[in-house]
Amino acid sequence: MNEFVERQIGLRWPRAVRRSYEVVIVGGGGHGLATAYYLATRHGITDVAVLERDYIGGGNSGRNTTVIRANYGIPDAVNFYQRSVDLYAGLEEEFGRAVMHSTRGVLWLAHSEATLRGERARAALNTACGAETVFVGPDEIGTICPQIDLTGGGTYPVLGGTYHPRGATARHDRVVWGYAEGAMRLGVHVHQGVGVTGLHRDGGRVVGVETTAGRIDAGVVVSAVGGHATVLASMAGVVLPIRTHPLQAAVTNHYAPILDPIVASADLLVYISQTPRGEFLFGAEIDRQASYSRRSGHDILALCARRVTTLMPFTRQLRILRQWTGSCDMSPDYSPIMGVTGTDGFLITTGWGTWGFKAIPAGGEALAETIATGRPAPLIAPFGLDRFERDRTRADRGSAGTH
Ligand SMILES: Cc1cc2nc3c(=O)[nH]c(=O)nc-3n(C[C@H](O)[C@H](O)[C@H](O)COP(=O)(O)OP(=O)(O)OC[C@H]3O[C@@H](n4cnc5c(N)ncnc54)[C@H](O)[C@@H]3O)c2cc1C
Repeated sequence: MNEFVERQIGLRWPRAVRRSYEVVIVGGGGHGLATAYYLATRHGITDVAVLERDYIGGGNSGRNTTVIRANYGIPDAVNFYQRSVDLYAGLEEEFGRAVMHSTRGVLWLAHSEATLRGERARAALNTACGAETVFVGPDEIGTICPQIDLTGGGTYPVLGGTYHPRGATARHDRVVWGYAEGAMRLGVHVHQGVGVTGLHRDGGRVVGVETTAGRIDAGVVVSAVGGHATVLASMAGVVLPIRTHPLQAAVTNHYAPILDPIVASADLLVYISQTPRGEFLFGAEIDRQASYSRRSGHDILALCARRVTTLMPFTRQLRILRQWTGSCDMSPDYSPIMGVTGTDGFLITTGWGTWGFKAIPAGGEALAETIATGRPAPLIAPFGLDRFERDRTRADRGSAGTH
């Protein structure tokens, strides 16, 4: 399928905002729209509104570096992300739309003995959970990706790593639009330019939202607002253990396609891929200072450029053309937080940090099941908010690719 020859995406915008919906989803990013899509397609629940204060995909879902993988460090996460990898692989068929899904493999490099041991463990755990990841030495890495300087510029020699063959990329905005189109086709209302400014409660229960377009009553309100999760949750009296940090990324000028896999370094905390247009796309750690700022800066660019050119010296010839920033909802254990909140009628999908694009299909599917059945879907049950008070955190920082 080709994005350039197919007909225009048929987004059926509703004429007016209704005063009441069975489900109101706040946030028109990938997670909000996927939840609406699966509510409609899998459970026949179409009396749903997605309220987006800016434009759909204008948050992190349209700003990420599109890495899809399931090579996580704990079984619950591997199972969850593996479901998403599977759903992504079938998304073009599901939508009847190009999302430019491309399976290219992820190479995860280790430059220290400690990381090497961790990667060996990751390969064993992933494989036991059904997500293929193989431990590879420098020679195999050189074969899979000859562009890597295995000496690491003489400072960071590549000692080994893991290779995850089903690692993939997809074009982020088309994923967002595909979910929106599919949900709208079945009658879901997606409203752009409608911001939620407050929540209405009756006793302890959330019963509606106050918006820039007036009050809307709701059977269930879902918060899918990315980096603004704590703001909305606080309106429902829910305290989330989330801190919002900026994350930046950049692309270079076009270059003849030569880089097949996505390459990440667990020690240098940098990752690189080449887009279908030939740009080298890279990113690194979150900004250390918590903030809602989306300003991009030279510091991270200089840091990334140093790390990327250390791994792939030929990239010194390239020029950075574009840089941007998103707002990441970082959880303390680097795992997502999904489902009920302890406040009736108010559910959340958050804690997506630097890793939530790959989770959009499985996250939306499981949250829709949770809403439709009134029970946590088994795949996301381990990621409930109550895990923090039960001392059942799902620590997986080593898989997040950031500090
Ligand atoms: C630079 C960068 C690179 C990344 N790379 C990757 C990657 O390679 N792989 C990966 O898996 N993940 C990656 N991520 C993370 C990923 O992008 C996010 O986790 C994911 O997109 C979150 O989706 P979302 O739907 O929860 O949030 P968003 O896409 O941020 O959507 C939330 C929406 O809510 C809206 N909103 C907020 N408040 C309100 C309100 N009061 N009323 C109405 N609407 C509101 C916002 O405008 C926004 O559109 C990256 C993130 C960044 C910033």
